[in-house]
Amino acid sequence: MAICPICQNKEAVAAFKPFCCKRCADIDLHRWMGGHYAIPAVEPPDNWEETLDAGLDSDDPSKIH
Ligand SMILES: [Zn+2]
Repeated sequence: MAICPICQNKEAVAAFKPFCCKRCADIDLHRWMGGHYAIPAVEPPDNWEETLDAGLDSDDPSKIH
């Protein structure tokens, strides 16, 4: 017997394992699809290191002088 990890008060049903119902299974799915995993803006762009280097390059001369 396993308790549904979403509502945590009903036993899991084989058809929706490890959830108790389709609603809980959908909630878990939306956590993955609509959660922070799916927001592309959070991920840094491929050239973020170049942007960082450019910022350092423009900053170093002013410190040297
Ligand atoms: Zn549930």
